[in-house]
Amino acid sequence: MRPSSFEYHKAADIEDAVRLLAEFGDEGRPIAGGQSLVPMMNLRLARPSHLVDINALALNDIEFDGNVMRIGALVRHEYYASDSRVAKHFPAFMDAVHWIGHPTIRRHGSIGGSLSHADPTAELPAAAILHDASIVVRSMNGERRIAAVDFFESAYVTALEPGELVIAVEFPMPSAASAGSFMEIGERRGDFATASVGAVLEFDGATITKAAIVCCGADLVAIRAPDVEAFLVGKPLKAPQAAEAGQMFAAEVQPSSDHVASADYKRALIGELTRRAVETACARALESK
Ligand SMILES: Cc1cc2nc3c(=O)[nH]c(=O)nc-3n(C[C@H](O)[C@H](O)[C@H](O)COP(=O)(O)OP(=O)(O)OC[C@H]3O[C@@H](n4cnc5c(N)ncnc54)[C@H](O)[C@@H]3O)c2cc1C
Repeated sequence: MRPSSFEYHKAADIEDAVRLLAEFGDEGRPIAGGQSLVPMMNLRLARPSHLVDINALALNDIEFDGNVMRIGALVRHEYYASDSRVAKHFPAFMDAVHWIGHPTIRRHGSIGGSLSHADPTAELPAAAILHDASIVVRSMNGERRIAAVDFFESAYVTALEPGELVIAVEFPMPSAASAGSFMEIGERRGDFATASVGAVLEFDGATITKAAIVCCGADLVAIRAPDVEAFLVGKPLKAPQAAEAGQMFAAEVQPSSDHVASADYKRALIGELTRRAVETACARALESK
């Protein structure tokens, strides 16, 4: 398949990129790694008349300021996956990254592209929601931050307005006494998830004091589990009742059957993945003490 015709523009910097995107409106699209956009164009599911190449923009840094980890939109999956600071503070996010596709895709694909593409079973949107991240966007009108939970509106639909460019994602730094994990099942290694579940737990001594749980595969966007999160608070790290937490989440979600799996199978997966994610996060918490 070949894409429909388009004009290519190489943006020199952020100002140039948002000016071009404002000029082209609905007819223009930024291109970063092209790992999702090019297949969509080849299948004619996307037909931009103008492609704005953003790869020359200075959006390649990972910064820590004590309160926030900020990852530039063009940072490639492979790059932040090899950063020891990310691994130390964000183990669930790090787990999630390793489930993305294959090495070549992780080498070319960018965090900004993955978030903007908003595939409902992609790992990074779920990880962003799990960590209460904010998406930083820029346009001719200035800059704004959008909470991840508000950014992903439906499958492949985000809160981005025409002319807006994602420039970074900011993750609040977790408490020092925290641990996390992200578990996934797909048809084959490297496939998008049939279901995945992430857990981040804070603890005081040997007791869970705060929990965040997310899953994808159950809805058009990744969803948090407030009831399960509340259930886990106060549980001991050594016996967190993870199986019960999984049963609760499985009973709450309402996945749809599709060509990969039935709704019942996905519900069972979400229960089991919740158990594994919580138990792994607890084991990591105990190891770190
Ligand atoms: C075979 C295969 C398997 C894959 N498996 C997985 C997987 O298991 N899990 C997973 O999560 N992903 C998977 N991917 C997708 C991959 O992670 C992509 O890297 C990612 O989805 C998009 O990143 P990109 O930089 O290539 O974006 P592009 O393809 O360049 O762009 C994707 C979309 O985002 C927009 N965009 C890009 N950058 C910005 C920006 N800064 N601001 C606003 N809009 C922007 C584009 O206009 C386009 O609409 C797979 C891809 C392939 C080809």
